[in-house]
Amino acid sequence: MIRVQRGPSPRELTATKIQELTAEYLADTSKAVWNKPYIRKSLLAMSRNKCVYCETRIDEESKYMEVDHYYCKDQHPTKVVEWINLLPACKRCNVNKGSYDIATEGELVDPTQDDPQQHLILVNYRLRGRDDKGRRVVEHTYLNETNRTVKARFEIGASVSEAIERLSTLVEECLPTPSDRRKLSQLERGMLALLEEARPTSEYSATVATILAGIPEYRIVKDGLKTLGRWSPDMASLESQMLQCNLG
Ligand SMILES: [Zn+2]
Repeated sequence: MIRVQRGPSPRELTATKIQELTAEYLADTSKAVWNKPYIRKSLLAMSRNKCVYCETRIDEESKYMEVDHYYCKDQHPTKVVEWINLLPACKRCNVNKGSYDIATEGELVDPTQDDPQQHLILVNYRLRGRDDKGRRVVEHTYLNETNRTVKARFEIGASVSEAIERLSTLVEECLPTPSDRRKLSQLERGMLALLEEARPTSEYSATVATILAGIPEYRIVKDGLKTLGRWSPDMASLESQMLQCNLG
């Protein structure tokens, strides 16, 4: 989970429209009145096409995206199309959260309001709460479901670890003979590609960022690039984005 900047309410969602859709829902609670293309599109843009809880990729074409209600619609029907109550989620997280009631059962981390770094830590591919808000979001959206989320984190983590280990070998080869331009270029491109995977726009960015920021080889490669005069402003900018996603 990473911090998500909530964008402005879609312009189609006027006060009158909110009243109209809420009335429609109150008259028939089987109607998914929030399921409007303009709402879905704005939510997807806000989360960079990812589930705000588990960071899996969701998009309009795949139809994997569901509109999660932070205050559940069963207990809080008047908030059913309230912009700040809507979050883009994958089916798994939305179904798991179900009709959990924030108001009576306790608040969960809302990454559009809270900074996940304050509430969560990632250890051995498993998320742990730093506080009750964090513990509850892990528990009620099943963020440590072994066959799904933990496995996905492990797979991406293994590939990131392997890639940074390769780069650390490469940097050791480059340091004594920095004239090998092919190797230097491989090193630069490799580091940029890895840092890009840790950007907030990438799938599972919290996992990638936490692994990269915590693995000793990252420091070896970064220091090597600096010694070689190849640590670029682009890398520095990507690194600062990575640190915003780090749950270590
Ligand atoms: Zn999810």
